[in-house]
Amino acid sequence: MQVDKKALSDGDPGSNPGNATPATGPKTLDLLATTASELARAAATWFGTSKGAGLARAVHRDAVCKATFSPEDLGAGPRAAAVWRAHATMQLPTVVAEQNEDAGHGAIHKRLLQLRDGRTIESVSLPMGHDRRSLCVSTQVGCARGCTFCETGRLGLLRNLTAGEIVAQVTLQRQHTTVDQIVFQGMGEPLDNLDALLAAMRVLHDPNGIGLAQDRMTVCTVGHVPGIDALRELGWKRLGLSLSLNSADESRRAELMPHSVRYSLLEIQQALMRYRQRKNLALGVHWCLLPGINDTARDADQIAEFLAPLGRTFLHVIPFNPGHEPITALPSEAEVVHFVGLLRDRGIAVRRRITKGRSVMAGCGQLGSTTQTAV
Ligand code: SF4
Repeated sequence: MQVDKKALSDGDPGSNPGNATPATGPKTLDLLATTASELARAAATWFGTSKGAGLARAVHRDAVCKATFSPEDLGAGPRAAAVWRAHATMQLPTVVAEQNEDAGHGAIHKRLLQLRDGRTIESVSLPMGHDRRSLCVSTQVGCARGCTFCETGRLGLLRNLTAGEIVAQVTLQRQHTTVDQIVFQGMGEPLDNLDALLAAMRVLHDPNGIGLAQDRMTVCTVGHVPGIDALRELGWKRLGLSLSLNSADESRRAELMPHSVRYSLLEIQQALMRYRQRKNLALGVHWCLLPGINDTARDADQIAEFLAPLGRTFLHVIPFNPGHEPITALPSEAEVVHFVGLLRDRGIAVRRRITKGRSVMAGCGQLGSTTQTAV
């Protein structure tokens, strides 16, 4: 199936980055948004020779892995270094605040990063066990989707991040901890910022630099159908994909996620089925458990019906993390256990998420808080 290119830029809230992307700075190449081979090609045009490909790879590696840009230290003479500096830049956000939580499951670090235009985003490093860590990466400043259970949605869309700003979150985190896995599930709907997302993924995957495998990256979407098809056309058969479902009833979902109704549940279901290019790929479906809203036996029945044709899928039950104006209470342990039981009774493969980061507003749906402690 061909991706509907128009639908990628029309109609979906926030999907047209025309007035939401920051003005570009001087016409220099952003090292954090460039793969090693792209950089080598660019350098060949600056110098009129392809002999500097090795240096270009080293510059790329230093930028994305070590957050440094110093061609002199890599052997460039003063004139060559000046050419590099005239054509390339590395713009890292500033870490302006940091909050940590260690509630017995390992340390969680939430960082508030200031971008070059003064806007701020957050990213969260989470323990996964066995000394491995996952980074929850933002793709937008705010979000146009306005999901009623999400703090980021209250901000509205302020702007899209550039590919370099997406990669920079990983580069910065790597200076403190390992980043074994990435979930594009921080601030924003990743597929509303598709071009930058794809460019960032290519840089992160580049074996000359960070070299994250496809199955170490997961895109989480509210159900942006042409975006899901565009990911499929990328041909990365191991790339993780998760759907934020939260209700399998059209009208209830429209109440909870008012700006995600352009595509019906049937269209989303079909897009997920098309996305599966490997039989054993495990799709993720996220369910923010909202007591009194989406925790009944009928909800469990509707989930089972939605998941039935999808093949190998895990339903991630995420207990609601209240923000500043919570739409309901946080679920009790008994409520979570009861709902998980309803799902398992219906044969659904369930993963119950352990709540992490709630005390520092770093849990799912809590990013966008402005009440952080200065570093
Ligand atoms: S849940 Fe995701 S898509 Fe919805 S408002 Fe929050 S960041 Fe945006």
